[in-house]
Amino acid sequence: MFSKRIETLRKVMAERGLDAVLLQGDVNRNYMSGFKGDESYSIITMDKAIFITDSRFTEQATQEVKDYEVREYQRPFEAFLDKIVKEFNIKKLGFEENVLTYELYNSYKEAVSCELIPLNGVIETLREIKCEKEIEIMRKAQNIADKGFEHILKFIKPGMTEREIGLELEFYMRKLGATGLSFPSIVASGVRSSLPHGMATEKVVENGDFLTLDFGVVYDGYCSDMTRTIVIGEPNEKMKEIYNVVLKAQEAALKAVKPGISCYDLDKIARDIITEAGYGEYFGHGLGHGVGRVVHELPMVNFRSKEILKPGMVITDEPGIYIPNFGGVRIEDIILVTEDGYEVFSKSPKELICLK
Ligand code: ZN
Ligand code: ZN
Repeated sequence: MFSKRIETLRKVMAERGLDAVLLQGDVNRNYMSGFKGDESYSIITMDKAIFITDSRFTEQATQEVKDYEVREYQRPFEAFLDKIVKEFNIKKLGFEENVLTYELYNSYKEAVSCELIPLNGVIETLREIKCEKEIEIMRKAQNIADKGFEHILKFIKPGMTEREIGLELEFYMRKLGATGLSFPSIVASGVRSSLPHGMATEKVVENGDFLTLDFGVVYDGYCSDMTRTIVIGEPNEKMKEIYNVVLKAQEAALKAVKPGISCYDLDKIARDIITEAGYGEYFGHGLGHGVGRVVHELPMVNFRSKEILKPGMVITDEPGIYIPNFGGVRIEDIILVTEDGYEVFSKSPKELICLK
């Protein structure tokens, strides 16, 4: 699997005229190597892959990183890097422009005798298409979240705080094998549900509230992401109306997911439904995003993205309506683009749930 990824990267390196690539961000380096630790480096040339770490990680790297030669370095890394550059006659070295700080870039530039070329998201683009193994892990990650949702529905009672609900949800999902959360859970009730990213607070959940739960877990290095909005007690007519508009938009976009459709067009399908219902100004964010090793990755699914969906991409579909001083609704599924359509990872129900 990793040698295949390296081969794909080498094709891009050849197109770009790069002699080697330096990866030091945890996400990309581990994606390309299978390493599960941090604070390490990899250098991939056209015919060699070297994994560079220090004594804390040498044994772990030897066990986890199979397609690389593992080397242990002594600080400073800059001097070690320059030795490698000379050993392999590297003239053009690609680096992660979104990882290297300005300070590090300058210190590499000074110490290393080769040209530093930004990779411009090469690895992030490779990460867009998931392989079977990644898909299987992501199904499992979402399965834990679905079980968490089922559990939390039985747990929530009026009078509890958003924080209590968020903590119980996290605890339950971690017991099921999640190693962490994809992001701090959004638990937003009542008027706070109009905050698209309202983190759990001490606010007490009351009868008549919308309650938006947007959460995900990390499982075996991959994230899940889902949102459901429920009602505590009885919804009024306006709540029902908003919910149904969001659901209609969400399902229309979902049914349109297939290879060949642009992210712009997919966003537009949901946005048009919300706009026609008179709530366009209350849907401020994009329809969705790619998910994988991090919760927000390529492709971005919004009105600025011309990217075309391809089989193997995992994206979200999460329209919402947020009315200040009233409340809001978002419904989010995580979806795999298949050869001829889609597979929804999130199995939790989407009809309006009213907790009595
Ligand atoms: Zn989400
Ligand atoms: Zn999301």
